[in-house]
Amino acid sequence: MRPNSEEVIAYFSMEIGLDPAIPTYAGGLGMLAGDTIRSAADLEIPLVAVSLIHRRGYFRQRLDARGNQTEEPVTWQPEELLRELPVVSGVELEHRAVTLRIWCYEVRGLSGHVVPVYLLDSNVAQNSDWDRTLTDYLYGGDPHYRLCQEVILGVGGVRALRALGYTNVRRFHMNEGHSSLLTLELMHEKAREAGVPGVTRELVQSIRPLCVFTTHTPVAAGHDQFPIELMRQVATEYGDSFDDCVQDFCLDRTLNMTYLALGNSHYINGVAKRHGEVAQHMFGHYKIDSITNGVHLGTWVAPSFVRLYDRDIPDWRKDNAGLRYALGISKVDIWRAHQDAKLELIREVAASTGVNFDPGILTMGFARRATAYKRADLFFFNPSRLITMTANSGPLQVVFAGKAHPRDEGGKDTIRRVFAQKDALGDKVKVVYLPDYDMRLARLLVSGVDLWLNTPQPPLEASGTSGMKAAINGVPSLSVLDGWWHEGCIEGVTGWGIGNSSKEINAVDEWAHDAETLYDKLEVLILPMFYREADRYVEIMRHAIALNGSFFNTERMVNQYVTKAYFR
Ligand SMILES: *Cc1c(COP(=O)(O)O)cnc(C)c1O
Repeated sequence: MRPNSEEVIAYFSMEIGLDPAIPTYAGGLGMLAGDTIRSAADLEIPLVAVSLIHRRGYFRQRLDARGNQTEEPVTWQPEELLRELPVVSGVELEHRAVTLRIWCYEVRGLSGHVVPVYLLDSNVAQNSDWDRTLTDYLYGGDPHYRLCQEVILGVGGVRALRALGYTNVRRFHMNEGHSSLLTLELMHEKAREAGVPGVTRELVQSIRPLCVFTTHTPVAAGHDQFPIELMRQVATEYGDSFDDCVQDFCLDRTLNMTYLALGNSHYINGVAKRHGEVAQHMFGHYKIDSITNGVHLGTWVAPSFVRLYDRDIPDWRKDNAGLRYALGISKVDIWRAHQDAKLELIREVAASTGVNFDPGILTMGFARRATAYKRADLFFFNPSRLITMTANSGPLQVVFAGKAHPRDEGGKDTIRRVFAQKDALGDKVKVVYLPDYDMRLARLLVSGVDLWLNTPQPPLEASGTSGMKAAINGVPSLSVLDGWWHEGCIEGVTGWGIGNSSKEINAVDEWAHDAETLYDKLEVLILPMFYREADRYVEIMRHAIALNGSFFNTERMVNQYVTKAYFR
């Protein structure tokens, strides 16, 4: 490989949403990683990314008539979409040398600048049959399998970069804690450089200026922990130096990947203002800043709005703040562009479920990972109220989508409850659940509905990005005031808020309170406006683009990482 001594930022993420045909992502974290990389390419940032190949992907979701989810592996052909590089990386797992092939996917920005994404692959003839499966399943297997994957990502990732000639990495950005073990490899590099046998406290200090950590969730399941015995069993090459490196990040002989990243990073952030505060409470010992997430406009704007922006805001792709000019686009044009996107979604609903939606009816969307705190079924809290509300103020049809993690029984129950409620409501409020939510479906949903719903249990929604994707397509949100919506909601201007996030009430009452607010907003404000004052509704759509689209994008976000974390 040619030596690559130019200074780069190395971005590590267990999942990255690169392309609808490449199943290397599970949800919002991966989509954010993909959008970050696409904007970095547009901005010509010297960034390279590292992840795993995930030959079997996350999974394909099948739903039976009662909403029981079954999972099937995804199959795809990496050789058709990626280029294999002529160098390898490797790690030692349980005293076995595991060789890692390196595949490259190139993300090309607006001016042609390329961000290479390096995907590590243990499916190599000389590895054992078991080792060859280690880069197959995203978030699959048991803790042992997951830890092997994290050694490959963190340790194997640093070595892959060195093998590719990246000698001058300015920052290692850990996008969530799955890649925290890269800090161990950096410590060992320093020890080798210094010619000392083990890792010392001073060496630990010396890697901190190199590392940046972004934490993405207050939910406990999002913070990986591994018993120290398992670490010793798996990461054999670090041997006795283990205790020195990691003892500060262990509690009850358990290594917490979040603490490993927190303790070794010079800059740490949450992903929205409110989440930064929540994370600061959780990890009081560390200084935690916030950089609010965004979305990549070119990836998520529907074709009909692309045409409109190209006509009226020609520079929008390379100057996202220009979306503020949407206030100067005529309401008729916005409405027409939206109807195109809505018809595209309605065709998808018919093709996928056989249900015919009426283009004249207010269509609401809810799509995200199906997991308990996202509360997909909050909307059905009081079905009789739903029926009277729509009888009084106008009809409503709703599209749901979302996968539950294979081991998330609570998430799977939620899907079954949505199915049961949907069947009970029948034609009174038409509800469909589209299977296999993915990047392609997300684009159709966020642009094709009239209203985007999000009802997480506060304060557990760190950011949420699907509402941002809706905003750039002129779709306002009706959402709980948590995550990004805490910043993005200007009541009655960019959308509507649910709940009073400052009030201390118990979870059961909160559920009822949030559901009643949701119904009130729909019955009193949203449905009447949509059916009787469409002009005012389109004004809100325009504000969603101009006020939120111009800010909640990854161009602004990446620029903040550059000034706060990468080049400071
Ligand atoms: C944007 C996106 C998400 C994240 O949506 P949230 O609102 O953050 O939950 C998840 N999955 C897919 C496929 C997406 O496109």
